[in-house]
Amino acid sequence: MVSCAECKVYACRIGKLDAAPENCPMRDGDITNTRDAFADPAIKKMARESALVEAEGYGRWSRLEEIIEFSHRMGFKKLGFAYCVGFREEAKVLHKVLTANGFEVASVCCKNGSIPKEELDITDAQKVRPGTYEAICNPIGQARVLNKEKTDFNIMLGLCVGHDSLFTKNVDAPTTTLVAKDRAMAHNPVGALYCHEGYFKKRLYELHQK
Ligand code: SF4
Repeated sequence: MVSCAECKVYACRIGKLDAAPENCPMRDGDITNTRDAFADPAIKKMARESALVEAEGYGRWSRLEEIIEFSHRMGFKKLGFAYCVGFREEAKVLHKVLTANGFEVASVCCKNGSIPKEELDITDAQKVRPGTYEAICNPIGQARVLNKEKTDFNIMLGLCVGHDSLFTKNVDAPTTTLVAKDRAMAHNPVGALYCHEGYFKKRLYELHQK
């Protein structure tokens, strides 16, 4: 099975393809030769501008600044963002920042539609706060709203695991993540990886042990 994560040589990174391991995907015919895809000018532009933004702001620009810069270079006029209701204060700021940078901005909250959790066969005891009205997060609604708005580019702001999957599966315009929801890590999911040999050892390696 392909397992780049266990590679010891990273031959792809240094351009020494002869040194690639046996299970390297570069050895599978031309599956990683995607030059055909980059022949499409729109795809090439996106790949190129991403690389240029990476290099120009390397280690200096925040992800938000990169999104703004990338969007300008791509010629995006209308941006959309899908946000979690828990990020409603941050959503106000994001709207203000994007607008100040000359974009038209459409935004849509995860609770749009106000569909009660009971409609997904979630019992009262299974809610975050039993005994209260809880609407489901509605990422498909978020996608449909932004599709209707015909946004050029979308941003996810704090969508939950799985909800983000449904959003990206249903949305038309290309999408990036500004914030990945992680309630236990101050929305810094990589912290769990950094602590895998320490505080998180037991939790991570024994979570679903086979
Ligand atoms: S593509 Fe090949 S060389 Fe690059 S990390 Fe994966 S296995 Fe290693």
